Amino acid sequence: MEVTRYTGLIEHYRNRLPLAADARAISLGEGRTPLIKLENLPRQVGFEGELYVKFEGLNPTGSFKDRGMTVAVTQAVHEGAKAIICASTGNTSAAAAAYAVRAGVTAFVLIPDGKIALGKLAQAVVHGAVVLQIQGNFDDGMRLVKEIGETTPVAIVNSINPYRLQGQKTASFEIVEALGRAPDFHCLPVGNAGNISAHWIGYSEMAGIATSISAYHGDGRFLDQPLTGKRPRMVGYQAAGSAPFMRGGPVRNPETVATAIRIGDPQSWQLAWALQKESDGWFDECTDDEILATQKLLAGSEGVFCEPASAASLCGALRDIKSGKIAQGSTVVCTLTGNGLKDPDIVMRDGLKGLIQVPAERAAVEKALLAHL
Ligand SMILES: *Cc1c(COP(=O)(O)O)cnc(C)c1O
Repeated sequence: MEVTRYTGLIEHYRNRLPLAADARAISLGEGRTPLIKLENLPRQVGFEGELYVKFEGLNPTGSFKDRGMTVAVTQAVHEGAKAIICASTGNTSAAAAAYAVRAGVTAFVLIPDGKIALGKLAQAVVHGAVVLQIQGNFDDGMRLVKEIGETTPVAIVNSINPYRLQGQKTASFEIVEALGRAPDFHCLPVGNAGNISAHWIGYSEMAGIATSISAYHGDGRFLDQPLTGKRPRMVGYQAAGSAPFMRGGPVRNPETVATAIRIGDPQSWQLAWALQKESDGWFDECTDDEILATQKLLAGSEGVFCEPASAASLCGALRDIKSGKIAQGSTVVCTLTGNGLKDPDIVMRDGLKGLIQVPAERAAVEKALLAHL
């Protein structure tokens, strides 16, 4: 019998990642997430194209950050780092903490004061990271991490670390391999804009087309035989209270329930505008109410539970489908960046309203069932 245990994206895509051949892969089996074709929602909104969600919430720590972290930690350890550090709205710290224990190094994480989903905090704690809760927001934490990185022997594993984007580009590889071509549109939630940039690098490499942003973020590694000649139009959605790309500059006090994208001063600002132009894509924004409604709509009509920030991609895509900006007949991929289980509080805000209290008696249970048939 042929043994084919999947051992993570570094081993799988090794020759397309800028890692030394003798670098020991620090992996938790990340990647290979499902590309789920939505069936009920397109019918409900009258969309005749193909609408897929790439469910990155099924990575080992529950978000796409694992793709970047496996490569960033592998490289840091290869270079001799004994500790890594990041600022985080939650998911980066969860991933950093997990990959650090795997590698046997220390993880320092700076998280904002409040506004972090409990599940994410639990992950950082249970994996033994040194958690510093700062009296400030993500942007303050990011500024501090950059300053500290200049003087202290710790490797920064935020997405300003180019190895993060190199790992995250593999999501595009998987999508092109699954579809046999690139989609027409790829929609993502945008915080620091590292992930949308990483996807563009990945699609460009798959198409064998140079992009100005991969020259900046490491060498493009093209396939001898490109799998697709085409790249998608990239669309990024922000939360309305935290939408610097829509305002044309940093937002001082970003606010949104979608805490993973509560970022006012995106680190990949220039990359994001460059890829918007190259891909003929656009940015837009969704309100918190729209985001939460879409999270519920997806969970209640397709069986997929993503976190609020993730729902921004689908929220914007559905609106742009309705308006015709995304044409009928298109193939659309929405990235669902993180798992809804990280933040159950957000959907249980109305308390236990969904529960029906019944006596432990057959007649009572039967009566309750019949009311719903
Ligand atoms: C990090 C994160 C984002 C934002 O990604 P950027 O690369 O910062 O744009 C979106 N959703 C979730 C769930 C995240 O963890």
